[in-house]
Amino acid sequence: QQETLKKPDWLRIKLATDGNYAEIKNMMRTKTLHTVCEEARCPNIYECWSNRTATFMILGDICTRACRFCAVKTGMPTELDLDEPERVAEAAEQMNLQHCVVTSVARDDLKDGGASIFAATVHAIRKRMPFCRVEVLIPDFLGNKDALQIVMDANPDILNHNVETVERLSDRVRAKAKYSRTMELLSRAKEMKPKIPTKSSIMLGVGEEWDEILQTMDDLRANDVNILTLGQYLQPSPSHLKVVRYVHPDEFAKLKEEGLKRGFRHVESAPLVRSSYHAHEQTDSAHAA
Ligand code: SF4
Ligand code: SF4
Repeated sequence: QQETLKKPDWLRIKLATDGNYAEIKNMMRTKTLHTVCEEARCPNIYECWSNRTATFMILGDICTRACRFCAVKTGMPTELDLDEPERVAEAAEQMNLQHCVVTSVARDDLKDGGASIFAATVHAIRKRMPFCRVEVLIPDFLGNKDALQIVMDANPDILNHNVETVERLSDRVRAKAKYSRTMELLSRAKEMKPKIPTKSSIMLGVGEEWDEILQTMDDLRANDVNILTLGQYLQPSPSHLKVVRYVHPDEFAKLKEEGLKRGFRHVESAPLVRSSYHAHEQTDSAHAA
């Protein structure tokens, strides 16, 4: 049994609460909506929400998978909520978001994996807020190409799908996903809509080696992925995957250089970076390129 590592200073953050936060939280409850910002107790919540960025989690809060790093509940998912897209759009409007990230649990129980609800959410936000950028962070839909097409046809501003870890550790970290399926999805998304920037994320500190990280970057670039985020894995509870290593901020900085050298248009790389952190700036540079 591996000892739990002591958290280094660069990861110590204080969660401050203010009136604005309480108000938004209350709105989410009233609309029965979920955000990853809250569910994952994301350390960036105050910065993101005040910068008018938020990540909604649609299709319920119970996942059909159980990735060993993830805090989301596993079990029988809730019934499909067809009004959810409209409520997400209303909430985005009330928060006056400039960049809205829409993600979901994996719904392997649904024929299209929830793709049509993703598409409906993009349309609902666009209708109310034509200037709000919409990023979708999608599950792999079990490799269902038609489901991906439904999402791509909604023309999101950014298509995000996380590889999460290097190939060797993929089965261990996220048993029901596949490294090759992730790469295939990213490549297909680009084929379907070459102009929509694609994005992926690698979580560090789960036992990956330096060369394996670089290889993963190369694989993402081989599939023409445009934006990369790298952050430190933090164990959500003692029953989750252990942290093998806390990666020093200097290494994150080096990885950013490696990523840019490889041709990513934007790389966010730091211990507390999450997939949607500084999402607005990421999209700006991806579209400007
Ligand atoms: Fe929400 Fe993402 Fe920002 Fe965290 S980084 S607060 S999940 S938008
Ligand atoms: Fe968490 Fe996504 Fe894995 Fe479900 S599929 S357990 S939401 S990381």
